[in-house]
Amino acid sequence: MVQENLRYVEQQIEDSVKKSGRNREEVTLIAVSKTKPAEMIREAYEAGIRDFGENKVQEILEKKPMLPDDIRWHMIGHLQKNKVRQVIDKVVLIHSVDSVSLAEQIEKEAAKKGIYVDILLEVNVAEEESKFGFHMPEVEEAVQTIAAMPHIRIKGLMTIAPFVENSEENRGIFKKLYDLCVDIKSKNIDNVSMNVLSMGMTGDYQTAIEEGATMVRVGTGIFGSRTKMGEN
Ligand SMILES: *Cc1c(COP(=O)(O)O)cnc(C)c1O
Repeated sequence: MVQENLRYVEQQIEDSVKKSGRNREEVTLIAVSKTKPAEMIREAYEAGIRDFGENKVQEILEKKPMLPDDIRWHMIGHLQKNKVRQVIDKVVLIHSVDSVSLAEQIEKEAAKKGIYVDILLEVNVAEEESKFGFHMPEVEEAVQTIAAMPHIRIKGLMTIAPFVENSEENRGIFKKLYDLCVDIKSKNIDNVSMNVLSMGMTGDYQTAIEEGATMVRVGTGIFGSRTKMGEN
C-alpha cells in the first residue's frame, strides 16, 4: 500500500511542479511517519524515500536505531525545551521553532555538543489559537535575534495550514508565507538563508507547491490514516 500511495503522491507532485514551471528537484517530499511502525517506514525507504518527519522526540529516539543510517529525520512537531538536548544531533532540520526561548535552548545545547543546528521558524499564518508558531508581524524580529546565535542556522519558514475541505482555501496562507520568506531573504541577514519553505500536507500539498513550497510533509497520503490516539 505504501508503495502505491507513494507512486500516486509522486505523480501529484510532478503535476504541480510542471503546472507551476518549477523543477522536481526543488521540492523535497517528507514522509510523515508519526505513529507508524518501523516496518512501514522501511517500505517507504525501499521505495526511495530518505526524508521522514516525526512530531515526538521519543518516537525519533525509538525508531532511528532500527532503521538505516542514511535516513534524514525531520522534527516537525512542537518541541519542549527539556527534549532539545536529546534530539538536536538526531535530526537534519527542526521545522518547528516557535519561540525565541526555544531557539536559546537549542543554541545552548548545540554549543555544548559543538554542533550546528538547522532550523525553520514556524509561523502561525492563519492565526489559529490551537496552533504554535510566531505571528506574522513577529517573524522578522525573531529572525534577527536568532540569527545572532552562533550554533543555529535559519534555513527558512514553516507553517501548518488549517484543515480545510478544499485546498484552494489555503492558497492565500501559502502565498503569505512565501512573500514573507522572500521579504526576509532580501534583507541578507548573516546566518540566514531562507531557501526552505516547509508547507503543504496531505490535503493541500499540490496547492503549496504551486505557491512555492520546497518541502511538503505528507503523512496520511502515504501511510494511511492514523488512530485517534496518535492524532496531533
Ligand atoms: C501530522 C503532520 C503532518 C502530516 O499530516 P497529513 O495530513 O497526515 O499529511 C504534517 N505536518 C505536521 C507538522 C504534522 O504534525
